[in-house]
Amino acid sequence: MINFDNSYAALPSGFYTRLDPTPVKAPVLLAFNNGLAKVLGINPSELGDLASVFGGNKIPQGATPLAQLYAGHQFGSYNQQLGDGRAILLGETIDTNGLRRDIQLKGSGRTPYSRGGDGRAWLGPVLREYVVSEAMHALGIPTTRALAAVATGEDILREQGMLPGAILTRVASSHLRVGTFQIFAHRGEIEALQTLTDYASQRHYPLAKTPMDLLREVCSAQAELIAAWMSVGFIHGVMNTDNCSISGETIDYGPCAFMDDFNMGRVFSSIDQQGRYAFGNQPNIAVWNMAQFATSLLQLFEDKDAAVEEATAIIHAMPALIEAAWLKRFAAKIGISEPTKDDEALIQSLLDLMQKDGADFTNTFRNLGTPDAPDQFTDRDAFDSWAVAHAARIADVPDARATMDAANPAIIPRNHRIEQMIDAAVAGDMAPFERLMTALKTPFTLTDPDLAKQPRPSEIVPATFCGT
Ligand code: AMP
Ligand code: MG
Repeated sequence: MINFDNSYAALPSGFYTRLDPTPVKAPVLLAFNNGLAKVLGINPSELGDLASVFGGNKIPQGATPLAQLYAGHQFGSYNQQLGDGRAILLGETIDTNGLRRDIQLKGSGRTPYSRGGDGRAWLGPVLREYVVSEAMHALGIPTTRALAAVATGEDILREQGMLPGAILTRVASSHLRVGTFQIFAHRGEIEALQTLTDYASQRHYPLAKTPMDLLREVCSAQAELIAAWMSVGFIHGVMNTDNCSISGETIDYGPCAFMDDFNMGRVFSSIDQQGRYAFGNQPNIAVWNMAQFATSLLQLFEDKDAAVEEATAIIHAMPALIEAAWLKRFAAKIGISEPTKDDEALIQSLLDLMQKDGADFTNTFRNLGTPDAPDQFTDRDAFDSWAVAHAARIADVPDARATMDAANPAIIPRNHRIEQMIDAAVAGDMAPFERLMTALKTPFTLTDPDLAKQPRPSEIVPATFCGT
């Protein structure tokens, strides 16, 4: 049983299309997240055949399946209609913490919003999202989560050739995006925009009484999120406004990756030719996305001049919010829980050395203050003098070590391990998936040292493909 409590389906019909998932040939359950099921109050033994339910062949009682409508800026250009082209929202449930959560099948077949697509997903990206989203959660970073992965028994065509199809069950605080607001704003459907604004505020920020309050809340959630991503070397890769969640959760793990060697300009996505979504550009893009959100909300105001002025001030305040969140996160990584403005220079000089020497992001921070730290640097003298300055700074800081250990994961889902895991899964071997999932559950405790190692040159995966 899933105790559905569906609020999105009660919104006006222009917000979505009611539609069942398209059944699949031979669903096989590849992974099921018992821990998350428990949080959701789902008892899997009461659900019947899990592969049928999470493969979309059996609609659970109480579901109101639908595809959501939205638009979005993709790589900066506005696409006036996107929507769930291969996802179906089964409905919502109130979890055991009292939080409303969406349960969505991704890869569940064509919808009126599929455009040219086949409505499906292949196994690789499904397992990538499963592993990386659960790793994010374990790292304490807001994210959608993965409840199940099902192989469909159908092959689908991608650039690489025929590949095994799969469906991910994604759990989210909601699937409201900046693009959900954009579609109604651009169409001039003010009543729908107002309904959506009220719905989003009540659902995510009940203290927000006006659209400007909502804008402020989302800016602040996004600022925290971007700083959190950067603190673990995460590159989202496709920060389009349709992949920018109103709740402040990380959503849409397409061509995402964690960096190995530190580089502010690092890009993994094979389609991001200009580096729009490069590691170091993520703060700028978050602000840009919030400016698009603000532009949509402006439609709700009669006194446009006053509204523009207020919204502009909120957007202009955002870089400082990100910087403050960034400083808090990175200071903790070097053992300082209450940073001052001066600490910025100390952090920056370490990052400069790391970039110059191609130091591994995760292992450098994890090993700071240990005899292994200098190993990441070719310019040992430069690092040693940094380490002297650092030691002096934290000499009187109580709990510096504990602060560092709590801020610096020992293990992150490295890209080459993800690729190896996918290759194995395609060949029918789920052991690497299980191994990664086990180690990533406790990222601040090293349980599997091999998985913490940076890739050997032959193992490096320089790009991730969007052919999801
Ligand atoms: P994404 O890059 O996954 O955020 O997707 C961007 C848009 O393309 C969304 O509207 C998706 O629903 C749609 N889309 C992506 N892949 C497919 C597919 N295989 N079939 C149909 N629509 C898709
Ligand atoms: Mg998307």
